[in-house]
Amino acid sequence: MARREREHASPWEPLRSSVAYWNTFSRTASIWWTRREGMAAIEVSRQARLIALVEYARQHSPFYREAYAHFPGPGLAATALSVQDLPVVTKQALMARFDDWVTDPAVTRVDVDAFLADKRAVGKRYLDRYVLWQSSGSTGEPGIYVQDADALATYDALIAVQAGAARLAPKYTMGVLASGGRAALIAATEDHFASIAMWKRAAHDSPWVEARGFSVMQPLPELVAELNAYRPAFLASYPTTLALLADEQAAGRLSIRPAAVWSGGESLAPATCATIERAFGCTVANEYGASECMSIAFGCREGWLHVNADWVLLEPVDRDYRPTPPGEPSHTVLLTNLVNRVQPIIRYDLGDSVVAKAQPCACGNPLPAIQVEGRCDDVVSLRAENGSTIRLLPIALTTVVEEAASVHRFQIVQDAPDRLLVRLGQCPHHNRRTTWHSAESALKDYLARQSLSNVRVTLDSSAPVTDSRSGKLRQVIVAGHAARQRPHSAPTRRDNRPGR
Ligand SMILES: [Zn+2]
Repeated sequence: MARREREHASPWEPLRSSVAYWNTFSRTASIWWTRREGMAAIEVSRQARLIALVEYARQHSPFYREAYAHFPGPGLAATALSVQDLPVVTKQALMARFDDWVTDPAVTRVDVDAFLADKRAVGKRYLDRYVLWQSSGSTGEPGIYVQDADALATYDALIAVQAGAARLAPKYTMGVLASGGRAALIAATEDHFASIAMWKRAAHDSPWVEARGFSVMQPLPELVAELNAYRPAFLASYPTTLALLADEQAAGRLSIRPAAVWSGGESLAPATCATIERAFGCTVANEYGASECMSIAFGCREGWLHVNADWVLLEPVDRDYRPTPPGEPSHTVLLTNLVNRVQPIIRYDLGDSVVAKAQPCACGNPLPAIQVEGRCDDVVSLRAENGSTIRLLPIALTTVVEEAASVHRFQIVQDAPDRLLVRLGQCPHHNRRTTWHSAESALKDYLARQSLSNVRVTLDSSAPVTDSRSGKLRQVIVAGHAARQRPHSAPTRRDNRPGR
């Protein structure tokens, strides 16, 4: 069920709101001015930010102090620091030493786990100054991310700059006036995922905007009815959800007139983008982000993603972390988030395969352009008892299993019109039998709520099978669908998604 987002406003909220608003506003202005100066100015500020971040991490994070022990003492600015001199870090290594990774000793894993266990606290301040979220663990390893005020203001500002560049703002303003400024996020709203946490935090900080989160877990007809009643001016979700809603709109069951649509968290194929734009009669803003950095790049009309190179460093590399030349798909990509100080992300193996554009982009944007090869999950179409076809979102299916069975490495395969196979990876905390029973009963409950009690759910003896070409795990697949290659945007379920 959709829930009201604005609740429990404290007497300090108006003050905090204006401070947050001012932070975002001034950062928006500074990004705009730097970018106006061109790539040379962007590179200068990026290098200054990198040096400052590395110094800060070394002083305040025991993890990075050890990792950078061989560098000369304070004053990195004096040395010509190149990012390629720094060691690569992985999620596994950082999560294993969470308390040493963060730069604020008040942030501890025990404390953070307790905060995340409270599902009513999604998007609320931790220690009165940070926002927390966790990744879904679709790569088999869940991560926990702490964001400081500066990082949040920068993510907001990057979106504001983008909206301005895409000339979304005037049209959006008109839509806001027409629809009372209502914004709708359709996401996995039940847990501390990045998208809903950012959204709730923004709704808290900007009480003049009416924002509501809608759950992807509810049956499609219910979601459509709620959106028809709400009439949002701004619609944000994953591309699979938006594509499904575009079909509902084209069929006349959904009847909304958003002024802008925002897509994130999964790959957005050009054809899907066109379908969504046609159905809703407005522009789709496509963002590539991750739980580790909410706003990495933004889509342009030429089908490329332009990296926010003033705040993000992205290095396409091969298996041995050597640079991949432009035009060739990388094995992975190293991410440096230049703004978030509380939990530094410096040369972090993100796992995505990207292709950097060799020539300047025809759209005229000087920021480096990339395409990201996402792992695309399939929308399953199941046959109900009465013969009708009911489509289910992959994110809803994976959330059901993750929440119920606390398992992160698994795969759901539709191999018949009325059957789902589940493949389980290693189950670290429970035995396989217990994990399977929890997953099975949660899936059956969920299917029953979608009028699909007739669908069989079976445990497959084989382990999850990774895509032979990309080496990545697609969590929801329809047997017989060829592994689709969609160059374009973010991988599935990063949850930043509207972010992964
Ligand atoms: Zn472009």
